[in-house]
Amino acid sequence: MATPSLRLLPEPYRIKMIEPIRILPEAERRKRLADAGYNTFLLRSADVYIDLLTDSGTNAMSAAQWGAMMIGDEAYAGSESFERLQSAISDVYGFPYLVPTHQGRGAENLLSKAWIKPGQSVAGNMYFTTTRAHIELNGGIFHDVIVDEAHDPVANLPFKGNVDLKKLEALIKKVGRAAMAYVAVGAPVNLAGGQPVSLDNLRKVSALCKANEVRLVLDGARLVENAYMISQREPAQKGRPVAEILKDMCAVVDAIAVSAKKDAYVNIGGFLATRDKGLYDEASNLCVLYEGLHTYGGMAGRDLEALAVGVREMVQDEWIAHRVAQVAYLGERLAEGGVPIVRPIGGHAVFVDARAFLPHLTQDDLPAQALAAWIYQATGVRAMERGIVSAGRDEKGRNHRPSLELVRLTMPRRAYTQTHLDYVADGITRLYEKRATLPGLRFCYEPPRLRFFQSRFELAPVKVNA
Ligand SMILES: *Cc1c(COP(=O)(O)O)cnc(C)c1O
Repeated sequence: MATPSLRLLPEPYRIKMIEPIRILPEAERRKRLADAGYNTFLLRSADVYIDLLTDSGTNAMSAAQWGAMMIGDEAYAGSESFERLQSAISDVYGFPYLVPTHQGRGAENLLSKAWIKPGQSVAGNMYFTTTRAHIELNGGIFHDVIVDEAHDPVANLPFKGNVDLKKLEALIKKVGRAAMAYVAVGAPVNLAGGQPVSLDNLRKVSALCKANEVRLVLDGARLVENAYMISQREPAQKGRPVAEILKDMCAVVDAIAVSAKKDAYVNIGGFLATRDKGLYDEASNLCVLYEGLHTYGGMAGRDLEALAVGVREMVQDEWIAHRVAQVAYLGERLAEGGVPIVRPIGGHAVFVDARAFLPHLTQDDLPAQALAAWIYQATGVRAMERGIVSAGRDEKGRNHRPSLELVRLTMPRRAYTQTHLDYVADGITRLYEKRATLPGLRFCYEPPRLRFFQSRFELAPVKVNA
């Protein structure tokens, strides 16, 4: 039912192999949701119709990637597949040293262990769940130095992921350079709604770090999306090929920690890449302990091959342009139905503003967790909470209270069609029309770490005066 004003770029692929999906009746979905403790992470995939939980590892690989898997060299040591991956990473990102890991958090662990001494500080733009967890597990203290606009879901600005240079400078002054382990810039910033960092801002952060002899790392899970948004939004970079911008971003940092399950169209994998020989030596040694030998790092030879091909595909402009267009299409269709979403729309996901969707709930009613649950119940579509549940607790056991309560509708790459996106938008729009009837949730089980994955919930008592 797309209106003529909304059009999607035609898909730059055709479908060669299909995977059946089915939609359960609503009564059945209600039961499965209750069985899952109202946590979408605990739903069975078979009970989900359209799965927008995450774009992590849920991508459709190309025929070239599947073909490459057949030549995987499964040797324990010195695999040829590793050499092919290393040359792809050095061609595309520009780093000479590579440590493969089983996925992104493996790289975060090696980096945090190599570079953090207990009590040191790490600065970042907002935070990412697993990144902050590894920093803290290794004795680091995390400081958020993102621009204030990042916390405003309606400020329609091009680079809401930028680092606030004044905040970073003040932090370095306050703790002292020697107490700064490193600066970790996420680009784009997942928890701010997929907001990108400008090349200009990254270069200024790099200059500030250099002047203070502080090391700089990029969280590179979706760097290609960030590079694409730079090519669309940053006047000095307009229209440049994504491949060139990506290299420019990597040129001003010491290392990247990457979840390959995002940009690179694979189902598993990650890596740390760097131009710092000292970091490489330490991380590749730690790799042997935590991941596997430094030429496979927890991945099979065939996975290294699929990744080597994916890394070269991901910087082709037509792929990234279509991906971002799909996300924008879903966002605009929701907005057309009146559903409150974060602006600008991110490159990997549409973020629904749960506070605005459910204004009758308080933050303690877990509005984003509740909305993700009710979206599944109403439509069979699976989304993810990004609010107080994901934010977790501080060292004193108090809830972190993020200003944003978001539900993330994340787009797997090359997996769904426009008809699927229309189904999602129409279903959530109908739910929005009934929003006043939707209750909140509360915890009934909360694990000590990364609680959003495994917590269970029950219906919050209905307030009499609500
Ligand atoms: C996914 C992700 C990670 C962690 O990577 P995994 O592969 O899930 O371990 C780190 N940072 C960002 C921004 C991510 O999106």
